[in-house]
Amino acid sequence: MVASVLDGKACASSVEESLSPRIDNCIKSGITPHLAVVIVGDDPASHVYVNAKIRACNRLRIKSSHIQLPESALEIELREVIENLNHDVEVHGILIQSPLPNHMNEEALTDLIDPRKDVDGFHPVNLGRLVQSRQDSLIPCTPNGVMRLLDWAKIPTAGKTALVVGRSRNVGMPMAILLASRGADATVTIAHSRTSEIKAQCQQADILVAAVGRPNMIKKSWIKSGAVVIDVGINRVDDASDSRGYVLIGDVEKSTSEIASWITPVPGGVGPMTVAMLMENTVKAAESKIQW
Ligand code: NDP
Repeated sequence: MVASVLDGKACASSVEESLSPRIDNCIKSGITPHLAVVIVGDDPASHVYVNAKIRACNRLRIKSSHIQLPESALEIELREVIENLNHDVEVHGILIQSPLPNHMNEEALTDLIDPRKDVDGFHPVNLGRLVQSRQDSLIPCTPNGVMRLLDWAKIPTAGKTALVVGRSRNVGMPMAILLASRGADATVTIAHSRTSEIKAQCQQADILVAAVGRPNMIKKSWIKSGAVVIDVGINRVDDASDSRGYVLIGDVEKSTSEIASWITPVPGGVGPMTVAMLMENTVKAAESKIQW
């Protein structure tokens, strides 16, 4: 079997197309959706991600503001930036690019974002609403993007056995909740660094989502024949033969495509969907402003 490719770029383009009339409608109502992206320090990967988000805003006519603080910035300075953005009536979405420097408390800073502007969906109010399956939640972009990709490719999840490897608050946990929620109806197991027999767990999964951050950790021999494999991992691995000096590799061995039915490429799979869902959350936040 050779797996079909779950093309995140194509699916993300269709999401962007569907957002266009909604953005027109916002603009006609006097509201230009506006995303503020805050970045602290000089992590090169973070700058690549922020640039991709700003390029998507430009394509869609979403206004973007890029706020850069130095690595040495104090937490109180970032708190002040967030509070100002919370009060700015022209800003609808606030994104604090992760990772923050070690001297900052990322969780406490996330708590400070107005949940209505929390387009990352990491605020406890939004995560709580997600658990309740409420429509007014801003859902974390990466797991929401995975669900959209499955839906777009008409891959059924109901009654399937799903394994999510990773339990982070931004990817693994909300991914498991979305797969298990009413409507998706998968039967979900969550694996993490303390899981024993992870290979055996993987071999049971009709749908496997890898969100670990370890290049090629999941081997071809771990995959059930015909499984759907979603590789969220993005790992930079040094490669002198590449002009950038590195390549991007997922958490799942590429040869898995010889046994899976569907697989996401890295790059070009989940990454573009994360950006598309961020745009959708920003538009949703702006639309709700029309009703404020
Ligand atoms: P975190 O580091 O926050 O979480 C990693 C998870 O993997 C943890 O739950 C950890 O378990 C688990 N883990 C670590 N080692 C093992 C192991 N040996 N066996 C099983 N589980 C293990 O990472 P994120 O969730 O933020 O990101 C995961 C990956 O996804 C990264 O490569 C990241 O770059 C990528 N990513 C990609 C995005 C995209 O748009 N494509 C967006 C966001 C992230 P424990 O809890 O026990 O420590």
